[in-house]
Amino acid sequence: MSLFEGPAMSRRTFLSTTAGATMIAIHPFSARAAAGQAHLRIMETTDLHVHVWPYDYYSDREVDTVGLARTAAHIADVRAEATNTLLLDNGDFLQGNPMGDYIAYERGMKDGDLHPVIAAMNAVGFDVSTLGNHEFNYGLDFLMKSLAGADFPIVSANVVTTEGRNPTKDVTLIQRYVILDRMLTDGAGETHSIKVGIIGFVPPQIMNWDRKHLEGKVTTRDILETARAYVPQMREQGADIIIALSHSGIGSAEETEGMENASVPLAAIDGIDALVTGHSHLVFPSPTYADYTAVDAEKGLIHGKPATMGGFWGSHLGVIDLMLEREAGEWRVVNTTVETRPISKRNEDRSVTALVESDEAVLAATEATHLETLAYIRRAVGKTAAPLHSYFALVADDPSVQIVSIAQTWYIAEMMKGTEHEGLPILSAAAPFKAGGRGGPEYYTDVPAGDVAIKNVADLYLYPNTVRAVRITGADVRNWLERSAGMFNQVEPGTNDTALLNPSFPSYNFDVMDGVTYQIDLSQPSKFGPKGESLNPDANRIKNLSYNGEPVADDMEFVVATNNYRASGGGSFPGADGSTVIFEAPDTNRDVIVRYIVDQGTIQPSADANWTFSPLADTSVLFETGPKAADYVDDLKSVDVSPAGDGADGFALFRLNL
Ligand code: MN
Ligand code: MG
Repeated sequence: MSLFEGPAMSRRTFLSTTAGATMIAIHPFSARAAAGQAHLRIMETTDLHVHVWPYDYYSDREVDTVGLARTAAHIADVRAEATNTLLLDNGDFLQGNPMGDYIAYERGMKDGDLHPVIAAMNAVGFDVSTLGNHEFNYGLDFLMKSLAGADFPIVSANVVTTEGRNPTKDVTLIQRYVILDRMLTDGAGETHSIKVGIIGFVPPQIMNWDRKHLEGKVTTRDILETARAYVPQMREQGADIIIALSHSGIGSAEETEGMENASVPLAAIDGIDALVTGHSHLVFPSPTYADYTAVDAEKGLIHGKPATMGGFWGSHLGVIDLMLEREAGEWRVVNTTVETRPISKRNEDRSVTALVESDEAVLAATEATHLETLAYIRRAVGKTAAPLHSYFALVADDPSVQIVSIAQTWYIAEMMKGTEHEGLPILSAAAPFKAGGRGGPEYYTDVPAGDVAIKNVADLYLYPNTVRAVRITGADVRNWLERSAGMFNQVEPGTNDTALLNPSFPSYNFDVMDGVTYQIDLSQPSKFGPKGESLNPDANRIKNLSYNGEPVADDMEFVVATNNYRASGGGSFPGADGSTVIFEAPDTNRDVIVRYIVDQGTIQPSADANWTFSPLADTSVLFETGPKAADYVDDLKSVDVSPAGDGADGFALFRLNL
């Protein structure tokens, strides 16, 4: 069947203009359908996370990499070039940026209120959406009030309010699936009816992630168990084709009970014709999935079925083309192609070029909320009792790192409840991200005591990492800290003014571990090199490592809160190679900090001096930091630091007496 192949999609051209780029379709795809054949173009957005405007509210600036307003331009293109289209959203629309937090924490949702992301989705005109795990972050009442504003059906088959003997006997929170009655125009211009069944699934792990909102109110079913129960029923009810909205990643081909990323075994289920996937914030088809079993990462097939994943935050539009043929009154899929359309591209110099312009109608539908969100990120949402700065983060326990660990520990303690790990000691690892170095003498976190605004949180946590927990031994904790201590040069006792910091060691690999106490003995050589390589295997800089005042034994067990970068092996830290991960949070570290601040009102980020350098008699070292550090030097309690003149390139020099 070659009607469908060929250059229809690759032969698109881009007309560049200075204001962006406009896509022009050379060959409307529908022109290729013959009589009795119809081309159906399925479009997917996924993991929008309230990104409607091309705006980064944390850094308070316009960006070209996000926003449904931009994806909407692709959607308009596709609609113009195809005769038959469906637009589907795959969930995680309600939470994930300050606009979402503004509605949830500040404005609230009253009966009849229209949530801005729903307003935007209404403006674009979706056919169906499903729920992602983040839809539950603000509780069921907020969710239901938000969904009420949608002009399109929203389906989810495995969130259950009353469990039956099998899935078909369940009472579900919202409708499980829809069967859309549509008219299809075939290649000869004749119209025929088609019934398109659309069913949605969410990771059952929402019961852990949002336990406090959901326990006693809903339960979840296994995605695959649920799909097997309903797909035949949808066929019986006349669905000609069935599309699964899988808010679940493309993962293992091997089915396990309650699996989070179930899209591969889901695709194998008889009766499902196409899948839109998500949750992982990745792109499919793409080389990312080249090595996955049952996955054709080039053609966009899983178990031979077309599937797509449209990135996240509106970054891509997923497009599945189905060529349908009518035979004996029934439609069947005879050919498929899959592509994704990005809204921006990254150039070699790392700059970003927009590939589409914003859809004005989408902006207009949310402009008032956008402006309110700008006011929200710029005003105080909480207070800090102490200044949050990182000028001394490499020489003393530091408030800017402490607040990250306090929030991470607070969050992970909640997430461990009801798991087999509950009751284990919880530690938190965090590093100063903004601590001078190549960023220059102004590149420090510096939030004065008093009001804290949302845009300050980006300053506290620079990267959009997600939270992870690892379960490791006392020996791993010790070696993790030995790895961190490679930040420092070795210091000969009794000498003065040795340079303290190893310039080839980035500050983001200086993990401070909160929840234990320890000293770093600079007279010893570093056990590890700057890349984590073994340097002096018998050396030990970490001294007096204690938990609750007792020495940490090698075989003790700990849960350590950290981020996805570290937990999956970033920086090559002992105990953090991916194999020790016990919890993959759906939440970013930033979100957790915002939630913590909103929850607490006033935060007390004062560092607790849980780590110090081991005293060395008559020994001093020099280090560089930002000149503004002078304002805070008198606040330092646990270390003896004094100004020592100017450093290089605008930095200030300080002396630390060990
Ligand atoms: Mn998501
Ligand atoms: Mg501390």
